[in-house]
Amino acid sequence: MKNKDKHKKISPWSMMKKIFPQILSVSPGLFIFNSFVFVLDGASFAATILSMQILFDRVTDLAQNKGTIKEAVLALMLLFGIKVFQQIVSGVSNFIGETYDSRSKGKLSHIINLKMSKLDPVSFENAETLDDINKSYNGVKFAINFINTIVDTMTLYLPHFLFMGIYLFNLKPILAVSLVFVFLPVLITQIVRVKIFSRLEDFSAPLRRKGKYYEECMTGRKYVKETRILGANPYFMNLLRQTIEQMNNLKWKADIKANLVELGTKLISLFGYLCILWMLFDALMKQEITLGAFAAVFASISSMFDMMEEIVCERLGYYAKNFGKIQNYLRFLELPERDENKKYEEDISYGDITLENVSFSYPNGENNALDGINLTIKDGETIAIVGENGSGKSTLIRLLTGLYLPDSGNVLHNNVDTRAMTTEKLFKDISGIFQNYQKYQLSLKDNITISETGNKFKGKERIKHVTSQAGINLKDNIFNKGFKTMLSREFDGVDLSGGQWQRVAIARGLFRVHKFIILDEPTAAIDPVEETKVYKRFSDIVKNKTAVIVTHRLGSVKFANRIVVMKNGKIAGIGNHNELLASCSIYKDMWESQSQYYTQQASTK
Ligand code: ADP
Ligand code: MG
Repeated sequence: MKNKDKHKKISPWSMMKKIFPQILSVSPGLFIFNSFVFVLDGASFAATILSMQILFDRVTDLAQNKGTIKEAVLALMLLFGIKVFQQIVSGVSNFIGETYDSRSKGKLSHIINLKMSKLDPVSFENAETLDDINKSYNGVKFAINFINTIVDTMTLYLPHFLFMGIYLFNLKPILAVSLVFVFLPVLITQIVRVKIFSRLEDFSAPLRRKGKYYEECMTGRKYVKETRILGANPYFMNLLRQTIEQMNNLKWKADIKANLVELGTKLISLFGYLCILWMLFDALMKQEITLGAFAAVFASISSMFDMMEEIVCERLGYYAKNFGKIQNYLRFLELPERDENKKYEEDISYGDITLENVSFSYPNGENNALDGINLTIKDGETIAIVGENGSGKSTLIRLLTGLYLPDSGNVLHNNVDTRAMTTEKLFKDISGIFQNYQKYQLSLKDNITISETGNKFKGKERIKHVTSQAGINLKDNIFNKGFKTMLSREFDGVDLSGGQWQRVAIARGLFRVHKFIILDEPTAAIDPVEETKVYKRFSDIVKNKTAVIVTHRLGSVKFANRIVVMKNGKIAGIGNHNELLASCSIYKDMWESQSQYYTQQASTK
């Protein structure tokens, strides 16, 4: 991801355009119903004011012997009725609002998960991506809140203010105008606040990153040994303290600024408020408005101020403060996907795999992990890859399968570039047993069959077959519930030994229906005697399919058609065992050191 894109600002309008449909789609019916309830809630405010005016007017009439008791009591009951209605409506809308929020949260998290599954696998090598995912989850709450604020404004606050404006205008036009004067300063304060705090964020974000880095230098796994031994802790502590001071300083200044602006505008608001009261009083004295109208406005005007404060200061203020977090959510959804704009939708039949001058480096790696690799694996061929640790074997496999794409050169599956294919098509016929296999906290059966996604489980025979191929003995005491045995201590199950776990991983790799299988050091955790047996079975398993086996055990892979020797990201030799013994000194050395080890082992027995 380019840094430039990362700091691109997203406007509130386009935020709404993106998030609103996501939230609406949780349940459009309920959403509309809730908005309608909000409108009713707003309307009941208006009705309260009107009925208050009626009540006061009736009571005044009664006092002046112009009206009847019955009229006054009716007016009182009307007001009561409206109050009860208001309570019910706001109860209902709170209830729906809460349920809807938690459902929205689920929905937005699901959207993130879905996005995650579409990201290019290689981006997970990048610490920044993991950071982005975290930030994105944190943004969900604020994204929902943002939409809520907009919806509440449109359905509740805005109609309310509109009604009050019209009501006051009817009483006396100047009253409505002064309302604007009360409202504007509050709004301006918030706009200024947003500016101040987003500037603060711009300046303090780099400082925060620096501080984090200094912290890492003192406590991070990578740094701690050196920092401690060299006695560099005070140095970093000092830097950290300076950074924190700088940040606090910036924040202090921003707070002062924002509060001064707020104080100023609050005074203006207060002045406007007093003006309205004065004008009302004046109008009443001059008998331009009735006592009822005076009382109604008097009673409701402070609640209107509270409302205005609530929306502008609390809700918009909250939104302004967390604007960046909502952006994080949206930005994550805009990260490039691996399968965007892919041409190859049709099925490809499996064939040769060709690497043409392939080079690759990890996002955070300095050197090429693979460097100018040329290799063709024929359809149905079994290839063994050998070489010392870090020579690029696992990386070669990641590129062969198309999991990662080359920086330069091409990887072709049956003459189609892996860049051009969707990952779904690419991985359709591939299975694998990986060096860092996973220990899923699931039952034995689920551990083996996770690749089967259909509703009906059709692998009953297959699972038995692969289990025995992998050398899992179901009669072993540990599998006390057979295939249903839970492989997790945390979930009330059992924990397996490393060797047993590896067999489960082997069974899982074999269970997936495949035409091409990769085995990346599949027996590292299995003891040598058993290992030989497992390799014997592999030689049967890989017959008639394309297979690539990474291994340290040169003796076990004589069944491979060809052996590829890796060294420093390059191919140092290709051929069968005897050819390599004759032509490749690296292979010869490896072979000799291993055969020594085997003979030693034999003699100690
Ligand atoms: P092998 O499987 O032969 O032991 P790898 O393919 O795992 O070797 O590693 C090849 C090179 O790439 C090594 O130098 C290793 O340090 C580097 N490398 C492997 N994985 C990563 C990674 N996730 N990020 C950065 N560098 C990596
Ligand atoms: Mg490896």
